[in-house]
Amino acid sequence: MDPTAPSSQETEPNVNAPAPRLPISGPFEFLRPSVEVGPQGTRVSLPYRITSAEGPLELTEVVQLPVPATVSDELLAAVRVLHLFAGVSYYKAVAPTALVVPRLSQAERAAVTALYDSGLREFAYRNGFDVPLPVELVEDAGDLSPVHHLAAGVEAGGSTGAPSGALVPVGGGKDSALVASLVPDGRLFSVNPVGAQVHLAEALGRPLLAVTRTLAPELRHLVAAGVPNGHVPVTAITSAVAVLTAVAVGAADVVMGIERSADEPSLVTPDGVPVNHQYSKSSEAERLLQAAFEPTGVRWFSLLRPLTELAIGAAVAARGLGADIVSCNRVFTVWNETTASRTQKACGECAKCLFTALMLAPGSEPEAIATQYGSALLDRTDHVDGVRELWSDEKPFDCVGERHESAAAVSLLADLPGWSHQEVISTLRDEARRVLAADRLEAGRFLEIGPVDDLPAEYRQRVADLRADVAAVVASVGGPDRGSR
Ligand SMILES: [Zn+2]
Repeated sequence: MDPTAPSSQETEPNVNAPAPRLPISGPFEFLRPSVEVGPQGTRVSLPYRITSAEGPLELTEVVQLPVPATVSDELLAAVRVLHLFAGVSYYKAVAPTALVVPRLSQAERAAVTALYDSGLREFAYRNGFDVPLPVELVEDAGDLSPVHHLAAGVEAGGSTGAPSGALVPVGGGKDSALVASLVPDGRLFSVNPVGAQVHLAEALGRPLLAVTRTLAPELRHLVAAGVPNGHVPVTAITSAVAVLTAVAVGAADVVMGIERSADEPSLVTPDGVPVNHQYSKSSEAERLLQAAFEPTGVRWFSLLRPLTELAIGAAVAARGLGADIVSCNRVFTVWNETTASRTQKACGECAKCLFTALMLAPGSEPEAIATQYGSALLDRTDHVDGVRELWSDEKPFDCVGERHESAAAVSLLADLPGWSHQEVISTLRDEARRVLAADRLEAGRFLEIGPVDDLPAEYRQRVADLRADVAAVVASVGGPDRGSR
């Protein structure tokens, strides 16, 4: 997915909440969450408290599941993890300050510390705060076990029997399209789906389970008044919503589409501190989140960790999924409407659009990319600098892959008759090859699929089988029949 699109999974309705008065301050306190099961679904309220000029200010996020859930220990465990993770969206308004939390398990403490520091480093860096961002946990909030309530006449529904099957979070982009295709019986799931996600589900011919996540309305007032704002580790939050939904519908697994490339930091500060836009998609975060989710009984993991973005792009193109995806974060903008968000089409200008086009190109005809993006993105002189930035020391703060794989894509395309004369490719060919040569890397290496042994046994073969899809693209690079494709 990008189940990871910034701001995307944070919709805020037109609620006329009064504007809180500045200044605001910490500590940032976690209050007791609640779960209400009604005939139409399950409403989960996640309250937090800070202090404004008028006194204590409560901020409550609401997550609405479309099914009446059975309240079980696993469900309450999932609510607890979601509460801990979702707080990051509000905490950033008063960060850094003490976090007043309930007594945490070791796994929770590790995950929370990571998300509230590493997950917020782009926010901190761009707002001029020191990184790492200090995390002070005060574990004396008392018992915050969720209050739960079953509406009269409602029969707790949801799951019966042992959990089975998988939930596949769908962001509408290439990664989740590939996971959905690899898990054909998986139930597609989105948080606040927009047109791009609905379209992908329709193209795949499968229903989409939609969960609503509503930010506390006061947050928008605070941001408008000028409190620090920025990127949050949204993959962790979306994952926690997915795990909660999996418990509610009786799914055993949540299968993510997170690739190897997410481990590379966007930049490293002069003091040596990594700042990664995609921290919550890193393999370090995957291990921490997995441990935190354990009490929920749901197996949460990424199916695409053995793949680079370039390999994913090749597999997506080989499977004919390219035309139905939108890997552009501007389609998810909710507070400031853009053409991309109105039309639900890729903007064709942002770093992520350029990057995705590069990843799809080696397995695609130039006309297909031009149709999808509204212009031949890689044949425009005004896109040369944008592509060059993908291997610069400060990568764009967006979901873009490894520096070397962007260079590898340009190098591979320079050998393809259909692509070699496009402006971006011919201009940057030598530079891209120098970037690879400096670290003695071969472009073709980025199409290799790594070991699948870390995946659950029943999923390994289907990922290993992607090697055939990708090999077809490799074979076509400079191959004799390439011109006839
Ligand atoms: Zn875009």
